[in-house]
Amino acid sequence: MSAPRSIPISRPSFSDEEWQAVRETLESGWIIQGPRVKAFEEAFARRHRVQHAVAASSGTTALHLALQALDVGPGDEVIVPAFTWVATANAVLYAGATPVFVDVCEGTYNIDCAQIPAALNSRTRAVIPVHLFGLCADMRSLGSVVPAEVRVIEDAACAAGAACHGTPAGAQGHVACFSFHPRKSITTGEGGMILTADPAVARRIRQLRNHGLREAEPGALPPPRTQLAEVDVLGFNYRLTDVQAAIGLVQLAKLDQFIVERAEWACWYARELADIPWLRMPDRPDHYDHAWQSFVVVVAEDAPLLRDDLMARLQEKGIATRPGTHAIPELAYYRARFGFRRDQFPVASRLLARSMAIPLHNRMTPDDYRYVVEALHAF
Ligand SMILES: *Cc1c(COP(=O)(O)O)cnc(C)c1O
Repeated sequence: MSAPRSIPISRPSFSDEEWQAVRETLESGWIIQGPRVKAFEEAFARRHRVQHAVAASSGTTALHLALQALDVGPGDEVIVPAFTWVATANAVLYAGATPVFVDVCEGTYNIDCAQIPAALNSRTRAVIPVHLFGLCADMRSLGSVVPAEVRVIEDAACAAGAACHGTPAGAQGHVACFSFHPRKSITTGEGGMILTADPAVARRIRQLRNHGLREAEPGALPPPRTQLAEVDVLGFNYRLTDVQAAIGLVQLAKLDQFIVERAEWACWYARELADIPWLRMPDRPDHYDHAWQSFVVVVAEDAPLLRDDLMARLQEKGIATRPGTHAIPELAYYRARFGFRRDQFPVASRLLARSMAIPLHNRMTPDDYRYVVEALHAF
């Protein structure tokens, strides 16, 4: 019998470098948003080949800032996939707009673009395609069904470093939002980033992030020290700290290597688990650089045991798993507020009941991966 193991669903991968970076930041005496946030923004923008980056305190506040900066508000509708983390739709509600859900595709878990036209109307201001689990949404199909005046906000929370047809996640819509929560590809604890090619939107987001304080026009003299900056818009405190950005800079330098490792093990999982007929592997479409934030399988109806029982049995063996993510219209708050029926988004409902993330992260050893595959074969 193998030794008892404990394989978490995810675990951040830090080394001495993050430790040193935090130490230097603390010793510098400057810990809030400052030079390290700026450097992190610039490096993140370069890596994703987008002109402007603005750091935020989380992926959720990044989404809220993006919607506010695009003037999405009361009376507006925003199209959101039905299967995604709750924050995608919550941010729409923070902005005072109404989320309109569209079901997702069975194999990619991403928004089903063929169903978008039926959700569009004159109130549609934006659509938020989610690059779920690190796989870019089908942005070409999306572009062909969404009218030009509708803003596209990528929820790239899971997709740092991903790409589609050579275009990085974050460079495919008007604005894109990333997360650095510890379950994501790289982490700063809490943290987020917004990318946009539009300088006016970037400026607006910077102002909204910092209490609505007006920033000096580019090239203008700074305001005299006797005056506080003017506030002409309702803003927020959604800043990232320099301590977090110091960690983020080190993590960002490791992003590509993290993805290479995870992609290798994702391929290995797909190969080693292919002979289990009741376990459906995630799609790996051609021309997509999957970032493999999570490896999510679907437990078929004819499986020897129900998904939840399988998860419990795996936990007994020390293997952590999680349901893929939320079917938002089935959450109590959304049902109560919008009166969704249980069967309105059948694919999202099925994935809620049958999807299962298995461990895939940069702290796993080859033995860990073999152990997971053996455990699944034992059923
Ligand atoms: C994690 C996540 C978010 C929220 O990011 P936080 O940094 O945790 O606020 C939003 N959308 C998706 C798809 C996510 O996975």
